Amino acid sequence: MDVFEIISVGNELLNGKTLNTNAHWLAKAITELGGFVRRCTVIRDDVEEISSAVRESMERGVDWLIVSGGLGPTYDDKTLQGLAKALHRELILDEDALKMVKKKYEEIVGHGLLKRVELTPARMKMATLPKGSKPLPNPLGTAPGVLLKEGRMNILCLPGVPAEMKSIFKESISPIIEERRKGFYHEKSVHITGIVESELAPLIEEVLKSHPSVYVKSHPKGRKEGVSKIEIQVTTTADDPSTALRRVEVALEQLTSIIIDQGGMVDEERMT
Ligand code: ATP
Repeated sequence: MDVFEIISVGNELLNGKTLNTNAHWLAKAITELGGFVRRCTVIRDDVEEISSAVRESMERGVDWLIVSGGLGPTYDDKTLQGLAKALHRELILDEDALKMVKKKYEEIVGHGLLKRVELTPARMKMATLPKGSKPLPNPLGTAPGVLLKEGRMNILCLPGVPAEMKSIFKESISPIIEERRKGFYHEKSVHITGIVESELAPLIEEVLKSHPSVYVKSHPKGRKEGVSKIEIQVTTTADDPSTALRRVEVALEQLTSIIIDQGGMVDEERMT
């Protein structure tokens, strides 16, 4: 299974202005594509911070490092500088990226929002990439995504704007991950009442012992009319979809029957 790490870059993510929905979306998309997300980090728009976060991921060893945010034209967009520093690569004007940026400004001129296409230093900055990068078309915005390889590690930089980030990921990256796919993810949840989480813990352990390839997690959902409600999520990743489905079903069946034996109730309507 490919191992992923995500780095979210942006001061606004650390001062509470913006909720880091990109990491959430990416983690879900990658998991559903059979990948394993090992770590998500949030850092400031700072070259040193970006460079050291990239180096730390490299030292841990990952198949994919995804960096979102900081690809735009403004002074505080520093992702590519940080990446170039971490990899000891030069930043060079990439002809293909420049064509992509130019095309975007031509469209903007076509819509009458700008008078003429002028490749200012700020605009050229979006086409100035670490040496060896491949620019990825941005269907919804101006700054291209960036893909490069360092040893066995794939590094992908995506813009911070959520719609742009998603569209580049779906168009250019999902197919690659899908092609390399070695795992199929499956999950199912049940909602239970009549048993508290501390009583549930040894029951979950019992199931995990007999089904070591599944992961069982309880999520307390608060109390309603004095009754505590818990969601139990069973997940696995297997070599093929039918094995993943069967593993989850078998583990869940064992768990629900133990819960019922212990006086708990399973909400059949809330199985998802
Ligand atoms: P642009 O080309 O627009 O400058 P960019 O790659 O430079 O894109 P940022 O400047 O980092 O992106 O962020 C652009 C917008 O996207 C901001 O409004 C920011 O709050 C939002 N954004 C950035 N990162 C995230 C994130 N992790 N989750 C949700 N929104 C984000």
